[in-house]
Amino acid sequence: MSFDYDLFVIGGGSGGVRAGRVAAEGGARVALAEESRMGGTCVIRGCVPKKLMVFASGYRQAVIDAQEYGWDLTPGSFDWPRFRARLDAELNRLESVYRTNLARPGTTIHDQRATVVDPHTLRLADGTTVTARHILVATGGKPFVPDTVPGAELAMTSNDVFQMEELPKSILIVGGGYIATEFAFILKGLGVEVTQYYRGAQVLRGFDEEARGLVAEAMGHAGIDLHCGTDVERIEKRDGQLWVKASTGREACFDKVLYATGRRPNTEGLGLEAAGISLGRNGAVPVDAHNQTSVPSIFAIGDVTDRVQLTPVAIREGAAFVETVFKGNPTTVDYENIPSAVFTQPELGAVGLTEEEAREREPVDIYCAAFRPMQHAFIGRQERVMFKLVVAKESRKVLGCHIVAPGAGEMIQIAAVAVKMGATKADFDAVVAVHPTMAEEIVLMKQPVRSY
Ligand code: NDP
Repeated sequence: MSFDYDLFVIGGGSGGVRAGRVAAEGGARVALAEESRMGGTCVIRGCVPKKLMVFASGYRQAVIDAQEYGWDLTPGSFDWPRFRARLDAELNRLESVYRTNLARPGTTIHDQRATVVDPHTLRLADGTTVTARHILVATGGKPFVPDTVPGAELAMTSNDVFQMEELPKSILIVGGGYIATEFAFILKGLGVEVTQYYRGAQVLRGFDEEARGLVAEAMGHAGIDLHCGTDVERIEKRDGQLWVKASTGREACFDKVLYATGRRPNTEGLGLEAAGISLGRNGAVPVDAHNQTSVPSIFAIGDVTDRVQLTPVAIREGAAFVETVFKGNPTTVDYENIPSAVFTQPELGAVGLTEEEAREREPVDIYCAAFRPMQHAFIGRQERVMFKLVVAKESRKVLGCHIVAPGAGEMIQIAAVAVKMGATKADFDAVVAVHPTMAEEIVLMKQPVRSY
């Protein structure tokens, strides 16, 4: 049977573009459909614009610190329209880089929605039908807003933050995960009054408890009004603001409300069920270790599979898919010890087991140093940093590393190499400290602070 394409990718995000490009470079006839902008969540409405906003917001504290260090500076106000114009230009540039890289090896790009008709057929929004030997679903995720809260439709999501015409004076952020916590610091740094409601006892569930505590402490120092054990009961428009009644009975008005309550696989109306795939929890596409669905010609990678919602993981899954299907080299992604960072201020970087996870599995020693770094102590800033190693008592292997500090995202990338290699505490101890740095503590911790 002949097909129009060897591969049809639905979704031009990080995973889909990588898979499409690499398959095309290997000689496959590839088409890719994207209904929004090329680059997907990471480039257009996620990691990239978020990180640029992290940089922008960090300058307020940097100017305050600089004053303390003797510089004659004053933090003025932040010019959002000026920043946004530059941000838009940068995202346009990146989008065109993605497009060029994809088109160079001959990929056909369809700037429209594609849906699945049957295991080898797709329908494009303009009504045309195309066939493909393999279909790769890489449609990512989309923000989830609970529909149980009256008035929640008045709130915005992270998709809208980068499009705001002006910065609000006040905002309520709902949620306590990556996005909520990162935006709390970002918006506070840009001069917005930030309140955060989180239903649980402590933000950043799933991360090391001590690390979460330190980030929450930093939120207090930054002036973020964090309310744990608090959820939204209802939202109403009142006098040009949003009135919010909380589960605790608290009532308050905000210019904006931002829901950051998780992301769900983007599969609605995609036609996968009609093609024979039963969708999983929250609409996720179930796949095996080779990213193959129950329909042999249809594969899925990235957030739409709801495995690990991280860009570099989607990229690896895309590359593994091409190796397996187009290069005859069955490849799976190794999900052990994936490092990640939360771009709070200070950042939280983590790899491997948390103290809580590790002690459930085997006897462990915990090495931890939490202190005010030299740069802060000099000017009387109270924020502390933390370096922690979770070490197996018997094998002495470092099972987890957790860092809360400026630059923790950069540091954890490097520490993760050692953890992934199976380094022991003795391997860390054998390394001479780089002095004077904060990170030298990671090789200087002699006695465990706790043992289980
Ligand atoms: P998260 O899963 O990190 O957090 C969702 C938050 O919303 C949790 O605090 C959760 O509470 C809360 N929540 C969920 N449902 C409800 C509800 N019905 N009512 C009230 N609160 C609710 O999701 P995010 O949206 O922050 O981010 C999505 C994913 O994107 C992340 O999991 C991460 O993988 C990825 N990401 C990664 C980043 C990075 O690498 N730096 C940055 C941003 C996103 P509870 O804890 O109680 O469940």
